[in-house]
Amino acid sequence: MVVKLDTSLIKDWNGYNGRPFLIAGPCSAETEEQVLDTARQLAAIGRISIFRAGIWKPRTRHNSFEGVGISGLKWLRRVKQETGLLVGTEVANEKHVYEALKYGIDMLWIGARTSVNPITVQEIANALKGVDVMVFVKNPINPDIELWLGALERVASAGIKRLGAIHRGFSSYEKTTYRNQPNWQLPIELRRRIPEVPILCDPSHIAGAREFLYEISQKAMDLNFDGLMIESHIDPDKALSDASQQLAPEELKELLSRLIMRSPSTSDPRLLDVLGELRQQIDVFDDHLLDLLEQRMKVSETIGRYKKENNITILQSARWDEIVKRAMIKGRAKGLSDELIDTMFKAIHQESINRQMKIMNNGIETHSETL
Ligand code: PEP
Ligand code: MN
Repeated sequence: MVVKLDTSLIKDWNGYNGRPFLIAGPCSAETEEQVLDTARQLAAIGRISIFRAGIWKPRTRHNSFEGVGISGLKWLRRVKQETGLLVGTEVANEKHVYEALKYGIDMLWIGARTSVNPITVQEIANALKGVDVMVFVKNPINPDIELWLGALERVASAGIKRLGAIHRGFSSYEKTTYRNQPNWQLPIELRRRIPEVPILCDPSHIAGAREFLYEISQKAMDLNFDGLMIESHIDPDKALSDASQQLAPEELKELLSRLIMRSPSTSDPRLLDVLGELRQQIDVFDDHLLDLLEQRMKVSETIGRYKKENNITILQSARWDEIVKRAMIKGRAKGLSDELIDTMFKAIHQESINRQMKIMNNGIETHSETL
């Protein structure tokens, strides 16, 4: 089944303040005062459409703060009454949906730990049947676009018209600069598959640290995302969850003022600067190629150490022939010329040999032409 939405463009949504569509608020609702003070300051920025706060927190370890539960919904209702901001919270099961709707919550989002589970997503979708509420689906923690798409389809099938996706990065076993890897090619592919569904970026959960929020937000704008969901807390260092990635409302205001929008004057930014957007996509794929090359070279070096320990020669022609033959066959099937494969693989092979030689000679630089 394919997602089909009638009036899903975010600009038609109640509360839309122009691109970027902004959702901000603390990772978690902690106290009534923290929620209201944060909301008042965010409302004063004048650009935020939805105030967010987690009420039920899916935490990795059971002894972490797991949210205030239903009492937080009352605080969100007060935020709405006092500031006029729309309010949103995360739902992780059908009971959460019923409770949130009881308190007039305007937007529900399905978190990354829930969107991985089709049974739970379906349960939530069933609870949403016949309800007119805004729903965002975060990407699953693993980089599986079908799972993300599947979750969006389940919610769309329940009749939800104001539906959006949130890109919050993907979990990885390797230690990386960011808390979650952006894998920008995935939201780009999602946009290609379902262009009618707005996509927001959540730089907070990608970054994991305040210092990276601006660069990720700017990248998302350059890739023509429709908006941002950013965590903001009245006193970030004291936050009970995700303290290192939250901004004080004043800092968020400053970040927003620095964002450069490539097409701020048009009513349809998607149509503008197509070339610029495509170039951004090329950059994403090139970055991906570089990451892959780095990882491949690490494996080559591990093989080099193994060869050294076991006194095996670096160059093993049969293995190399096999690699090139395999690449040629695969490359042809993908429409890549023999010339490209040949040049690229020779260069990669040369680099591998250079690195393995270095290892063999205990770090002494060796010229591979001698091989
Ligand atoms: C959150 O938004 O606070 C949250 C728990 O996000 P995610 O599902 O992306 O981890
Ligand atoms: Mn959080």
